[in-house]
Amino acid sequence: MLDTKMLIGSKFEAGSEAPEPVINPKTEETIVSVHDASPAQVDAAVEAAAKAFKTWSRTTPAERSGLLLKLADAIDREAEGFATLEALNCGKPRIRVLQDEMPAISDCFRFFAGAVRNMHGTVAGEYMAGFTSMIRRDPIGVVGSIAPWNYPLMMAAWKLAPALAGGNTVVLKPSELTPLTTLKLAKLIAGIFPEGAVNVITGRGGTTGQALINHPKIAMLSLTGSIATGQKVLQAAAATIKRTHLELGGKAPVIVFDDADLGAVVEGLKAFGYYNAGQDCTAACRIYAGKKIYENLVADLSSAAKGVKFNRANDDENDIGPLISAHHKSRVHGFVERAAEQKHVSVTAGGKPHGGKGFFYEPTVVAGAKHGDEIVRKEVFGPVVSVTPFDDVEQAIEWANDSDYGLASSVWTADLAKGMATAARLQYGCSWVNTHFMLVSEMPHGGLKMSGYGKDLSMYALEDYTVVRHVMVKL
Ligand code: NAD
Repeated sequence: MLDTKMLIGSKFEAGSEAPEPVINPKTEETIVSVHDASPAQVDAAVEAAAKAFKTWSRTTPAERSGLLLKLADAIDREAEGFATLEALNCGKPRIRVLQDEMPAISDCFRFFAGAVRNMHGTVAGEYMAGFTSMIRRDPIGVVGSIAPWNYPLMMAAWKLAPALAGGNTVVLKPSELTPLTTLKLAKLIAGIFPEGAVNVITGRGGTTGQALINHPKIAMLSLTGSIATGQKVLQAAAATIKRTHLELGGKAPVIVFDDADLGAVVEGLKAFGYYNAGQDCTAACRIYAGKKIYENLVADLSSAAKGVKFNRANDDENDIGPLISAHHKSRVHGFVERAAEQKHVSVTAGGKPHGGKGFFYEPTVVAGAKHGDEIVRKEVFGPVVSVTPFDDVEQAIEWANDSDYGLASSVWTADLAKGMATAARLQYGCSWVNTHFMLVSEMPHGGLKMSGYGKDLSMYALEDYTVVRHVMVKL
């Protein structure tokens, strides 16, 4: 039995608005329908969170930590079930969810369980004679969290763990396309956390999501999604000056110098450019290659892309799954078609939707794209990698930084000093040298520019989900 009910306070209830079909992107069939929350249900969820905040915010770090650890253990126990469900709803290879995502999800809860017990601030002191000042880091209030569809359960973890560790209560809305693992998680949460600490509501962005972000009792809004939704969040936040935490995607530049290890670059791009069918905000999708390595890189990357496995009957053999929806497939194809129309561009691998059932798209290489081309500038969010030759270091850095986005980037070179010097000049939340894509719970993930701001993971996320306060005592 699939969980389709929302969690409001301690009650599981179906949304009272229209049912939303949840589609299996591999078969295009409806898995189940999940009803959207009504505005009254959104309000009830926020009220439940506001009520719970009064007590949850006063629990000790040790108490919160204990429950986060219990949740991590429960997730580990049900990792197989979660992986099956996430694979069903997103079309991802199940083995990838089980081996890559599930350990990172429980580790996220464990990290914040430890982090909150180690959150130390400035020492107290007498900064004015006769008065002692101290700094506190306190919970913010009710956090409205909105998650995307590319890593539904992992994004739920990234949002819940630091918010709860920091003493906040949460109303979480998964994407209407991928609510199933979050609804299953709600079942575990209800058995561990006090009533109202976490509430899960379902529904579309424009209705349920909008009601959530407009709610006056929400103190902070956290979104992972598109720039357009980020802008709506900021507009909604203005009404009552809510705090905001935004992760709005990326268009990661990858600078490949002539001296880079070609084999390692191609292996890296095959893995990090196409992982999750490129539906990843850090995907290695915008390659700038030195003139000497360019031709070989295009040739080797194109054959590597053709070797990315998908739509095999034995799911364990698949490297990637389909795109999330028919709409998204046509969006991705539109980018590739417009790129292919240009004379200087050659599509050297893939370039079209895979025939038959499912929203599969062929792993694609767009070679010879110019820096100003749409395919180089806009986030495609599909298995599409562009390669552009550059003249010198200065041009590579200028082009890499000349983007609306600022989330992730990488540099590939045999000269580590050059790699570090280049990484230092990149205006991105993360720059990798001779790798890409690697995340750990201890290190921050978050962007600059229109990729948004606010950090997920690490102590920095705990800082984002708490507020600095000054308490002064007259002696
Ligand atoms: P989206 O921003 O529309 O959806 C993300 C989440 O925001 C969903 O839960 C959605 O219901 C919610 N939402 C949408 N409108 C809302 C509103 N007005 N108020 C409150 N919540 C709202 O993203 P999408 O349309 O699913 O994807 C479009 C593009 O967004 C992708 O192609 C990609 O470029 C980007 N994206 C980025 C990430 C990321 O990891 N940063 C994840 C998913 C999508």
